Amino acid sequence: MLNQEVFATAKQLIPGGVNSPVRSFASVGGIPFFTAKAKDCYLYDIEDKKYIDYVCSWGANIAGHAQEYVTKRLSAAISNGLSFGTPTFLEVEFARQICALMPSIEKVRLVNSGTEAVMSAIRLVRGSTNRDYIVKFNGCYHGHCDSMLVSAGSGVITFGSSNSAGVPNQFVANTLVVDYNDVKGLTQVFEKYGDNIAGVIFEPYAGNMNLVSPTAEFIQCLNTLPKHYGALLICDEVMTGFRVALGGAQSVLAINPDITILGKVVGGGMPLAAFGGRAAVMDYLAPLGSVYQAGTLSGNPIAVTSGLANLELIQQPNFYAQLSTLAKRLTDGISAVAKVNQIELCTNYVGGMFGIHFQAELPNNLSQVSLANVELFKRFFHGMLDKGIFFAPSMFEAGFICIKHSEAVVDKTIECAHQVFASW
Ligand code: PLP
Repeated sequence: MLNQEVFATAKQLIPGGVNSPVRSFASVGGIPFFTAKAKDCYLYDIEDKKYIDYVCSWGANIAGHAQEYVTKRLSAAISNGLSFGTPTFLEVEFARQICALMPSIEKVRLVNSGTEAVMSAIRLVRGSTNRDYIVKFNGCYHGHCDSMLVSAGSGVITFGSSNSAGVPNQFVANTLVVDYNDVKGLTQVFEKYGDNIAGVIFEPYAGNMNLVSPTAEFIQCLNTLPKHYGALLICDEVMTGFRVALGGAQSVLAINPDITILGKVVGGGMPLAAFGGRAAVMDYLAPLGSVYQAGTLSGNPIAVTSGLANLELIQQPNFYAQLSTLAKRLTDGISAVAKVNQIELCTNYVGGMFGIHFQAELPNNLSQVSLANVELFKRFFHGMLDKGIFFAPSMFEAGFICIKHSEAVVDKTIECAHQVFASW
């Protein structure tokens, strides 16, 4: 089978040929490859081509694909049954470990995707504060729930407008949008609407507009301003949780959120996500409270087994030190070969997450990210893919390292980047 043939058939049967838009390569051109299997830091496509994988299932894979300990635990769990519709001890143990690893979480509920966790958390903060407005930041992605599919309008204080067909403007009428790192804008929004704001949702490191770090003032403002007005802080750690550090970005940046959203790494590649936080807020959820939330497969035993096995692996000594050493080696190396070849590029990383920006200086918000040279990014993406190295097929996505990316693999990647740049 050839990728091209399968993609042609896929397009007839699945909208765009894919089950999530970015997989289609629409923003870089060309056709996607179809993965047949994966091991460690490698993907193998249906044509048996091997790729070094820096997408890592969009961040979910941190311990390496088909990790032996995880697959062994999963095989054992599968033979006990796939789903019970009753609570299990596994869920209790998982909740215990999450609460221990992230002290801001006193109680946690499990769901199946980051989107579902965000949607539920937003309902919870609205229900528990009895207020309607949610503040989000331009360029932060929080899944595809209606109220989050919103772009900033013009002006500093902005009611967003829906950025997807099918989302009526009334559905986003209670979402206020501010630029990332814009302390002044956030302050003005609170001055004007503070008494009606239920919560502020943010990515502690923004990983859905390449990789953008928060400024110290921005974090300071998030830690204090919502609280001052009685609004809740929702830290969306779907991407950063257990990825940038064992305690998540909140441990690195000293954030004390009311609610945290987890996804990706928390399930180690299985459909599992969670939202948790202060008990007083979480207890507004049914069956204790009046905020309804439920799920047939929530806390699925196979997904939770995968999560538990991964939690064990990431707690091994030096796990995060090793990830960041590799991320630093990769980003330093790519910056160095870009410089040699006179390509305007800068890089950043935090824990096992990195950004490659085709621009002179690191961006602080979405408009700055958008100034990067998208044509150079596309050439880089395809040049690397030809050499068997898979970076995210969009300039607006962060990259990911797993613990199986060795120094040799990273050095090979840097050498290939050098060859690609030198060929321009
Ligand atoms: N929140 C953030 C920060 C994300 O990066 C994502 C997905 O990339 C989501 C929420 C949505 O998660 P999911 O794709 O599991 O629905």
